[in-house]
Parts: sequence; structure tokens; C-alpha cells
Amino acid sequence: MCDHCLKHGTAGKWYLNARNYTTEVLDDINIDEDFLKEFLLEQYKTFESMQVRKLAGFSAVGLGYKIKIPIIGRITKYFAEKMLHSEKSKFNPFQAEGHIGQVVPLDDAIAILENCVDENTIIMKYCMCRFQTRAEKEACCINFGIMSDIIDKLPRFIPEPEDSKYRLTKEEAIEKFTEFNQKGYIGTIWYGAYPYINNLCACKTPECAGFGPRLNFGIKSIFMAEYLVENNPDNCQGCKRCITMCQFGAINFNEDTKRSEIDHSKCYGCGVCVYACRFDALSIIDRQVIPTLAGKY
Ligand code: SF4
Ligand code: SF4
Ligand code: SF4
Repeated sequence: MCDHCLKHGTAGKWYLNARNYTTEVLDDINIDEDFLKEFLLEQYKTFESMQVRKLAGFSAVGLGYKIKIPIIGRITKYFAEKMLHSEKSKFNPFQAEGHIGQVVPLDDAIAILENCVDENTIIMKYCMCRFQTRAEKEACCINFGIMSDIIDKLPRFIPEPEDSKYRLTKEEAIEKFTEFNQKGYIGTIWYGAYPYINNLCACKTPECAGFGPRLNFGIKSIFMAEYLVENNPDNCQGCKRCITMCQFGAINFNEDTKRSEIDHSKCYGCGVCVYACRFDALSIIDRQVIPTLAGKY
């Protein structure tokens, strides 16, 4: 259980607490709804330039090089994480302050949609990370709450009718998210901004701006899931389908046993491989059952 779960969780998980999806939770850090609306509007108006903005005073340009410089690298990483994990009540819309997420497998994403989200506010919008990096418009970000109030002022995020319906029912959102999972997209849930939750994303690497800092520079911009995956070698047929689906290189093929093997240290617990396996050889387990990885997100 992480600090966020201890402070904001229910059933051991911060993202399964329905209160975190209501504006009531804003009282905890003394911000009002109008301020959050303004903040999100300003942030999304200029979202495309986010990756070249400063990370807590350090330009994000050439970040990989800076991170390698002794001491400077450690300082940069420290301030970048401090900014992303910020719990302060005044956010700067020109930085990704208080914007932290966690990987969620399909079952938890369904639980979020079923139990925590206000159905009247569910929308589907274009993924800006894919647009920024590949100029590709794909409707796969599910938003709710305040985002639903401000999206009309951000028309370029609204999908064309041929790409997706814009306002979704719970059933439609669950159906869409299940489709994304089958495509191999990683489910992620985000504070936006802390402690208010408004984004359920279906991400891809390397496009995702949330995974980039973590995978490229070791900055904790997103947490691994509460879960890991384990392999049942008796069922494994060695088809390698799971290996092609894993976006983190966490599954290896053992040439001696002709079976796949999970490298738990690399596994983000997204569960994509579980649904990809046709032989029931993979299952999701609680991260806490592996002592060396318990509490390590
Ligand atoms: S976090 Fe994921 S789904 Fe959301 S905008 Fe980025 S890549 Fe797209
Ligand atoms: S998809 Fe299933 S059967 Fe195929 S290699 Fe992976 S675990 Fe084994
Ligand atoms: S091995 Fe882990 S990270 Fe890779 S697809 Fe499976 S659950 Fe996701």
C-alpha cells in the first residue's frame, strides 16, 4: 500500500475510493472547484507543449543527458518527482503538478467505472500523447467529473463521430475499455490534479508522456499496479503471444523449457498478457505476495 492509498484509499486502493471522484475531496487541500476548472482548462489549452516545459525549474530538453550528470542528475530527478507528486493546493498549469497515476488492470478499471464514476459525466476524448508524438488521433482517454464540464471549450479533444461516441454510458465505457485492453493498451488511472481523479487512460509506450519519464529516466511519474502476473508452466504452450503483447519487456522465453517466464522486477501488473493468453496460463496476483516487491511501485 502506497502513501496515497493510506491517505485516500478504500479497500486498500486510492483509486477505488468514490469520494476521490467528487469535488468534496477538493476540500482536503483547500481548493475550490472553479480554480480546478481554470487550471485544467489552461493546462489542456497548451497541452502539446507540456513535454518541452520546465520540470520544476529544469528545462525538460536534453533531460536524459542532464540526468546522467552526477549530482545535477539526482537533483533534477528529485525536483521532477516532487512536482509530479505535489500535494499543494495551488498548481501551476504550465507544469504537470499533482498529476500522478497508477497502472490498473481491466478488473479494477471496470470497478472504477461501475462504482466510483458519475455516469452523467463520462466522456471519451482523443489521446494527446499519441497526437503529440505521432500526429495520430485516437479516442481512448476516458474522462469524467470536471473534465466533462470544460471539454466543450477544448473542441480539438472531442472525437469525430466516425472515431467514437463522445458521451458514454457506463456500459459503453466498460465495453470500450475492454476493447483497449484486448488491443494491448495499458490501463492507467490519474489524479488530475491531486487529490481529484478524472482520467482513465489506455496508454501505449513510447508515446505516453506519463510512462516516458519513468521508462527513460527512472522518474516515478507513474506507479506500477497493485498486482503482478504469474505463469503456470503446466498450461503454457510456448506460443509467445504474451511476449508480443507486453510493452515492458517483462516476459522472456525459456529456450530449454519452451515456456514463457515473467520477470517480476519489470512487470507493471497491467494484466494485458493475461487476457492475451489463450491457454489460461497467466494469472494476476497481489504484488504484496512477493516479499521483495511488496510495497515497491
Ligand atoms: S496518459 Fe495514456 S491515454 Fe492518456 S493521453 Fe497519455 S498515452 Fe493517451
Ligand atoms: S500466451 Fe500463454 S501459452 Fe502462450 S507463451 Fe504466453 S503464457 Fe504461454
Ligand atoms: S508481464 Fe506484467 S507488464 Fe507485461 S503485460 Fe503482463 S502484466 Fe503487463
